[in-house]
Amino acid sequence: MRVFVLGSGSSGNALLVESCGTRVLVDAGIGPKVLASRLAELGVELHAGALDGIVTTHHHGDHFGHADKIATTFAAPLYLHHGIASPAGGRRGRRADLDLVDVAPESKIQNSELLDGSTLASAVTTDGGPPIDVRRYDIGRALRIGELTITTVQVPHDAAQVAIRVDDGDSALGVATDVGRVTPGLVALLAECDAAVVEANHCSEMLAFSEYPEVVKRRVSGGFGHLSNDQTAELAARLVGSRMARLWLGHLSRSNNTPARALEAVASRARRIDVDVLSETAPVALDVRSVKPYQLGLPF
Ligand SMILES: [Zn+2]
Ligand SMILES: [Zn+2]
Repeated sequence: MRVFVLGSGSSGNALLVESCGTRVLVDAGIGPKVLASRLAELGVELHAGALDGIVTTHHHGDHFGHADKIATTFAAPLYLHHGIASPAGGRRGRRADLDLVDVAPESKIQNSELLDGSTLASAVTTDGGPPIDVRRYDIGRALRIGELTITTVQVPHDAAQVAIRVDDGDSALGVATDVGRVTPGLVALLAECDAAVVEANHCSEMLAFSEYPEVVKRRVSGGFGHLSNDQTAELAARLVGSRMARLWLGHLSRSNNTPARALEAVASRARRIDVDVLSETAPVALDVRSVKPYQLGLPF
């Protein structure tokens, strides 16, 4: 299984998983042109029809803001759980995340009916654009896209949010960002993964002494905000002895964290689990089965 991390942080999240001829994009917080250019940096060309599905974790703009454009550009089905409004459904899909700087423009409602039941499809159109193939799935119920099986578990955040496991039958990747606090369900999901992208959003001390307004500090550090380095370290400690072999730390706050602080905190509790830090915008190709990840463009 190859994983191409194309963005990780408040300026936009997206990663492409490729295995057994199936390609699935997890989150769509960067536009199609940026996505294509960052893939090209990694030597990957993505054509319309070559993307088998887009799975988004929640409706904050840094994860969902470009879902409609990516779906139409690459003619890919968009898989949404019931806590995410259809991209043609207006504001819910456009809401800014905490310290979000990248928000897509509004699109007009033409047909935004939400459908009940797992993976029911509906065609919605954005203003003037081709229809989007929207498929609904239930959180907690396995979803099959090509050769990949997607499992989700709800995690606390200030939007309906899921952690995701992508399994090709041989190896499995976890993706868990935007998590307010560690839950038993999250630990159980990640314990069945070989590797995971997890957030280490902020250093609690840096946040406490930052210029952020108190209300924002409380949101970020609260049970429906983001994981601190120490919380992610605790998560890593709980995964010791499980299938988990490596963690890639992402969604770091630019203002309230540093790669060195995140790495130091988490590695100190991770024992034999390898820990690396992802760049916010430099794309990187990872192999979940290799002993050491093959990385490009990391500035540290
Ligand atoms: Zn986010
Ligand atoms: Zn969020």
